[in-house]
Amino acid sequence: MNDDPKNLLPDALVWSGEHLSEIALTALGDGQDKIIPQNALDHAASCESCGAAMGHAAIASMHVGNALRAPIAEVTIERAPVPWLAMIGALVLAIVGSAPSLLEAPRMLVHQMPVVLHGANALLRGLAGGLGPAVNFACAALLILAGAMVARAMPRAWSANKF
Ligand SMILES: [Zn+2]
Repeated sequence: MNDDPKNLLPDALVWSGEHLSEIALTALGDGQDKIIPQNALDHAASCESCGAAMGHAAIASMHVGNALRAPIAEVTIERAPVPWLAMIGALVLAIVGSAPSLLEAPRMLVHQMPVVLHGANALLRGLAGGLGPAVNFACAALLILAGAMVARAMPRAWSANKF
């Protein structure tokens, strides 16, 4: 059986004191007795302690083998449902939260009307003054942008000062 000594476990791995090591017992339990030296096989056959330990190793090996051969349960990936209720709730909260600023929008427009009118006046004067239409349009767009920026910055100062 153990023809080539190169294929055998070394004594340091086979023996643990006067009995077989865990490695040798596991190898015997797995049925790999071809790597166990003959004197260790003889000891396992004659020693009651090593025989019992080898039986336990064989049972453990059998359980591992059965577990490995057991069919793998089908894995299904379950997607999380879309949180529609939370999304709708967040949308409702956003609308409710922005309602005060929406209610103030007409008053802000009235308050910013001089800025808008001034911008429109400058645009018309620029168009009538003979400047190139592109320069006129750019100046008007700049004024409108400035008015929008002032209008956008206004509610914070407005609500803080209670105008
Ligand atoms: Zn023994």
